[in-house]
Amino acid sequence: MEDLILKEIIEQDEKYYMNTFGKRTPVCFTHGEGIFLYGTDKKKYMDMIGGIAVNVLGHNNKRLVDAIASQAAKLIHCSNLYYIKPQAELAEKIVCLSKGLTKVFFANSGAEANEAAIKLARGYFEKKNDPRVKFITAINSFHGRTLATITATGQEKYNKQFRPLPPGFSYVPYNDIKAIKDAVDSDTCAVMLELIQGESGIISATKEYIDAVVECCKKTGALLIIDEVQTGMGRTGSFFAYEQYNIVPDMVSLAKGLGGGVPIGVLIAKDSVANGFVPGDHGTTFGGNPLACAAALAVLDEYDQKHLVEAAKSMGDYFKDALGAIREKTGLIKEIRGKGLMIGIELVNPNAVKVKERFLEKGYLVNSIGSNVIRLLPPLILQKDDIDIFCKDFVEILTDNLITPDKQ
Ligand SMILES: *Cc1c(COP(=O)(O)O)cnc(C)c1O
Repeated sequence: MEDLILKEIIEQDEKYYMNTFGKRTPVCFTHGEGIFLYGTDKKKYMDMIGGIAVNVLGHNNKRLVDAIASQAAKLIHCSNLYYIKPQAELAEKIVCLSKGLTKVFFANSGAEANEAAIKLARGYFEKKNDPRVKFITAINSFHGRTLATITATGQEKYNKQFRPLPPGFSYVPYNDIKAIKDAVDSDTCAVMLELIQGESGIISATKEYIDAVVECCKKTGALLIIDEVQTGMGRTGSFFAYEQYNIVPDMVSLAKGLGGGVPIGVLIAKDSVANGFVPGDHGTTFGGNPLACAAALAVLDEYDQKHLVEAAKSMGDYFKDALGAIREKTGLIKEIRGKGLMIGIELVNPNAVKVKERFLEKGYLVNSIGSNVIRLLPPLILQKDDIDIFCKDFVEILTDNLITPDKQ
């Protein structure tokens, strides 16, 4: 049956929306419930991508919906000219969760949180009368879409068409200890890294590498900025991924899942570093407004009630075991990567896009990276039964004759 509603939406989108997303996956959702989304095509989809690590509580979570509705009825926005109760409460909660950082700044997105980190790092050294401009980031990293954050992003495809870029950024191969030792010196302002590179195929930093990075920063006084926009919010089985590396960075950015779908980002810093901003140095109209902070507080409450960080770890382990069994059985999976519910499945054949399309036909939303990797970032409320059903269909898709004979 033809989906006329979808057809009309696509025509309108193609006529009026800038062509930044190209041809999108041809589905449009009307509502969701738990880990399921429902489309204009009347089909039900299991959401294994969670709005790219955003819908941590799934869809239509009662606590979150009630908190948003009740805050909206009271006060949606009032400006940071005034004190904001949910903002102050959320600031305290996030500082506690960070286990060692002391101050926050709220923004509206991951890119904005990272942009604030870049400014704060420069501000910190400027105030110390030791001006430093150099940032070192990793090749194949991803840090956002503003001019400074596309420059921090170590992938030319995001920034070469927008030159001139802000100066001072250079790139090192990820997980290469010698390269980072050679790159960091007493002129380095900060090193900015993800602990698992999400956009380039779910690649984890090794413990030895991060220890070496911390050592280089300590030696030279350079700051360490960890981008937890994707890995944070319990995604990897600890609230922040850096806890699993036994480090406390100088600054951490967090966004995606924090508001459960309501846009909010945050930069968290050590006291000494936070002094790099004095009144007037930075600001925001929307960042940390009552609505977004009430949503984030409800998300964190739900985490406490449902033990979702622990769930991400145990469900992640269960999922990886199940995928490991599929690997053994089919021989069509090269590697299973990631931590907790941040999972990358590298296929033996370059069929990731086809596999993603077959998943969609069968009622599953997954993401593909390049030609070989399937990425999963499901809501943290995922259950074993959901994983079992998903894996059963994954085997069928992988072993389907339409897919396997693809030529390399
Ligand atoms: C998504 C992402 C960003 C950018 O966040 P936006 O909210 O899209 O600006 C930055 N860093 C990482 C690691 C991300 O995954």
